[in-house]
Amino acid sequence: MNNLLIHNARIITAQQVYAPGWLLARAGIITAYGAGAPPDTPADTVIEAENLTLLPGFVDVHVHGANGSDTMDASVDALHTMAQFYARHGVTAFLATTWTDSQERITAALNAIKKYMAAPPTPKGAALMGVHLEGPYINRDKGGAQNLDLIRRADRDEVLPWLEMGIIRLISLAPEYPENHWLIRECVKRGITVSIAHTNATYQQARQAFDMGINHATHTYNAMTGLHHRDPGVLGAVLTTPTVRCELIADNIHVHPAAMKLMWEVKRPHHVMLISDAIRAAGRPDGDYPVDNRTVLVRDGVARLPDGTLAGSTLTLNRGVYHFMQATGEPIEHVWQTASLNPARAVHLAHRKGSIEIGKDADMILVNDQLQVHKTIIGGEVVFSL
Ligand SMILES: [Zn+2]
Repeated sequence: MNNLLIHNARIITAQQVYAPGWLLARAGIITAYGAGAPPDTPADTVIEAENLTLLPGFVDVHVHGANGSDTMDASVDALHTMAQFYARHGVTAFLATTWTDSQERITAALNAIKKYMAAPPTPKGAALMGVHLEGPYINRDKGGAQNLDLIRRADRDEVLPWLEMGIIRLISLAPEYPENHWLIRECVKRGITVSIAHTNATYQQARQAFDMGINHATHTYNAMTGLHHRDPGVLGAVLTTPTVRCELIADNIHVHPAAMKLMWEVKRPHHVMLISDAIRAAGRPDGDYPVDNRTVLVRDGVARLPDGTLAGSTLTLNRGVYHFMQATGEPIEHVWQTASLNPARAVHLAHRKGSIEIGKDADMILVNDQLQVHKTIIGGEVVFSL
């Protein structure tokens, strides 16, 4: 029987904060928690939390790579390297995110993810919960660092076999192309979340896309038409449509803190989702890193193509949450959902993950006031200790 008892923690549950509080997990599931001293229960593992804050583990639904590895490496080893890196930075579940590439290379990446999910390697890292397919059905004019030569329209023969694999939870596409509309409907029918992404759509086109079932916006502000007061664009549509959840790269590079604050004012508390959009350079020093057949230059932690285009981030999500707290002036008690429950809901994982509640997976992190991760617990098992 694998019992875990945590005590003397400031516990942020879905309903309230216990300070100090205790929590009990049995066989990987949260079974009880409360205020004050813990009950006299035998436990295999006891953690005296020294007043650190216990949060639900972060759920990163948009992350490409880390620590020298990338989803597009199409290897179980690369995914394992990523999963272990994320766990050290507070992420307990993630979607491996693909990149615009050839049919062969995307298929190879999906095959590796499927293989990994069937038998996750040890030691345990963040749980790989599926795929975020970013591209290739996006708009070249807003392609960012994606491989522009390989951007295309949705093709049944190509994408239906990918959907049939049963591992895609999220698709980022540009909805302004009528050729992509059947795919939006197909995904909605299958319970796959569709996100407006790398898009040059007008306000009207974006609203039509939301009517078709799109309810997610990929790295909001970045690679989409901006807000002009006479031409509100995708950004205006996203911010004023209550059903749309917004991804945000809170690295202070992709988005100014004032724009983060604006999003919080409009979308709080349930429709902001912090993501890292991290690439293989995350956790590694400045240098030149390969992406498909090109090179990303990382200088002072900022990743760019040689022409200056931002190319993902080197952000870790615990830092992103801290930046977001600073940008909004809000304490962690008010913003914790943005990195866990909101993304978990967006990709239909909230019945198991995303908050500290009885019956959910015991995926939790102990952090200090600067969001430095002291311990990561996945399925009731301590997988990282500072
Ligand atoms: Zn992107």
